[in-house]
Amino acid sequence: MAKRRTYVFIAGGVMSGVGKGVASASLGAILKSRGLKVTAVKIDPYINVDAGTMNPVEHGEVFVTRDGDETDQDIGNYERFLDEDILKVNYMTTGRVYLSVIQRERSLGYGGKTVEVVPHVPQEVISRIQSAAKHHDADVTIIEIGGTVGEYQNVLFLEAARMMKIATPGDVLVGLVSYFPVPSAIGEMKTKPTQYAVRTLNSAGIQPDFIIGRSTHPIDEPRKKKLAVQCSVGQDDIISAPDMRSVYEVPLVMEQEGLAVQVIKKLKLRAQKPDLKSWKKLVSSIEHSQKPIRIGIVGKYSASGDFNLTDAYISVLESVKHAAWSIGRKPEIIWVDAGTLEQPKFRSQNTKVLGKLDGILVPGGFGSRGVEGKILAAKYAREHKVPYLGLCYGMQLACVEFARNVLHLKGAHTTEIDPLTSHPIIHLMNEQEEKMKNKTYGGSMRLGSYICRLKSESMARKLYGESAIEERHRHRYEFNPDYRKALEAKGMIITGESPDGTLAEIVELQKHPFFIGTQAHPEFLSRPFKPHPLFLGFLKAAAKR
Ligand code: GLN
Repeated sequence: MAKRRTYVFIAGGVMSGVGKGVASASLGAILKSRGLKVTAVKIDPYINVDAGTMNPVEHGEVFVTRDGDETDQDIGNYERFLDEDILKVNYMTTGRVYLSVIQRERSLGYGGKTVEVVPHVPQEVISRIQSAAKHHDADVTIIEIGGTVGEYQNVLFLEAARMMKIATPGDVLVGLVSYFPVPSAIGEMKTKPTQYAVRTLNSAGIQPDFIIGRSTHPIDEPRKKKLAVQCSVGQDDIISAPDMRSVYEVPLVMEQEGLAVQVIKKLKLRAQKPDLKSWKKLVSSIEHSQKPIRIGIVGKYSASGDFNLTDAYISVLESVKHAAWSIGRKPEIIWVDAGTLEQPKFRSQNTKVLGKLDGILVPGGFGSRGVEGKILAAKYAREHKVPYLGLCYGMQLACVEFARNVLHLKGAHTTEIDPLTSHPIIHLMNEQEEKMKNKTYGGSMRLGSYICRLKSESMARKLYGESAIEERHRHRYEFNPDYRKALEAKGMIITGESPDGTLAEIVELQKHPFFIGTQAHPEFLSRPFKPHPLFLGFLKAAAKR
């Protein structure tokens, strides 16, 4: 007999950005803690086929899966909270759904039928959700519908939820994550916006099974009572989820509010007693990490202030936190704007900023803005022996810096910025060159997991504790092997390379407490219970300062 599969849709009410992703991931975590197999699907309403072509200022981080999909940052939340790999099958966008419907139509896949928006588009959505559930052999699949109810763009996804619920009512739940404002002038929590959101959901033919209430404050009894009556939801099905100091407290809050118990009861699932020991340990280690450690992240995307910045680098930020907490230190992140850093008039002021850091991290990036600032940061770290971790662009630019200032190769650069440089330290391989000529930009970088061989007696080898590792990638440019000998002769060693020896994956500086650049994105592999070895090594070195 086929295994029974159940589904929990999560929709958003009132406004975006209230933490649907963390709520979905937390529900997954507390269900998983009961021995259930859980996976999570994200649906994004935009036309882009993936998140790879979007500006991070608009969209936040592009999270890369093991199998090379460029997805939304919520997939990162699922991986961190569920401690499971989430794959391409778990992600869809409006563009991706329509593309497959149209391709299927073109190959006569609908057998001569008129192909219509309804039901064929929601049917495609459903079949994708079912594939993800099957692929992961999940008892429960959580499906987060991007955006907010009432938006034109996610109507077809709500329709998919409705159709699934009608077909197998006992196996499908819909939860609404909604926002409860506490306007300062009124000084009282208001439930009306959520009542409207539920009405909107009702008009799409859906009655929510539970409501998760996001707010600055907990939802009190009188409001839960009122909402229950107004929205036809049981009082036990209104889950209070106030702001927490750390997102990793959310699973415990939801457990306390009885969310998992209600979901299990409604879906009639057979589950074990919850084991939340590791979550409790994590939260207590966060609370006990008091002594600050100052890590500077030299990036850009700060155009609309700090808010976008943190979103564009969320996995990097989380990785720093995981490693810091694991050594009992409180991470203090200093956002250093690479664009400001490179302006000569700010230079002395900026070196002062860098001088106060325990560690300098240059994350991934694209394009010319801030490049010289990042190179400056790498130079500062090299010369002043400040622990340095370079991720992707941060590795490439550290090589450029070394070539310019140690090998004295004037004008050395990456061809991404200076295509005519006389010293192309970082360049495009032929295959990528072709893609660029044909304007094949979408989903065409080196993406996903690649094996890397580590040199014995290297720092990387010591940190990873293995001779071959796998890391996720997202870049077009590569280190130019013509310069390998020169770099190594002066102390910048390639300590990680592709199995065939053609690609440089990790570089290390000798005679430095910690200076590592990796062509990969280790931030996609760090988990709260398993900090990433490179981040851990970096934080330990920073802690020694
Ligand atoms: N822009 C660089 C490249 O495409 C680095 C990319 C990145 O940091 N993710 O190779």
